[in-house]
Amino acid sequence: MFQIFGIDREALALILGASHSSHPREFVGVLRAREGVIQEVLLLPGTLSSDESALLRLRMLPIDPSACGTVHSHPSTSVSPSQADLALFSKFGRVHIIIAAPYDERSWRAYDHHGNKIELKVVRGTGQPI
Ligand code: ZN
Repeated sequence: MFQIFGIDREALALILGASHSSHPREFVGVLRAREGVIQEVLLLPGTLSSDESALLRLRMLPIDPSACGTVHSHPSTSVSPSQADLALFSKFGRVHIIIAAPYDERSWRAYDHHGNKIELKVVRGTGQPI
């Protein structure tokens, strides 16, 4: 099993765009990785109005062996995980991204399943860091 070390720039762009267009509601999604790089974001359909409902939706997901973690947005400027976020992280996945307003390339952070901050490189495909 590969260590997750990066995120494809296209996947990150998708996250930024989806978060922006969902504002002031939350955006939630599931991350899929290949060869240690997050390549795909599965957007979860439905109307979400709060952190609680976003997390509830994630908890109800069927177990998907290709999923490596989750992403959700905070309409505030805080990228810190809530207690509910930490509870979710500990249950599922290896990497979790929180993106906060204003949803730009500096307003996101990645965490491991303990809620410790981790570094993800932005790469192209599964290739070299940009
Ligand atoms: Zn949250």
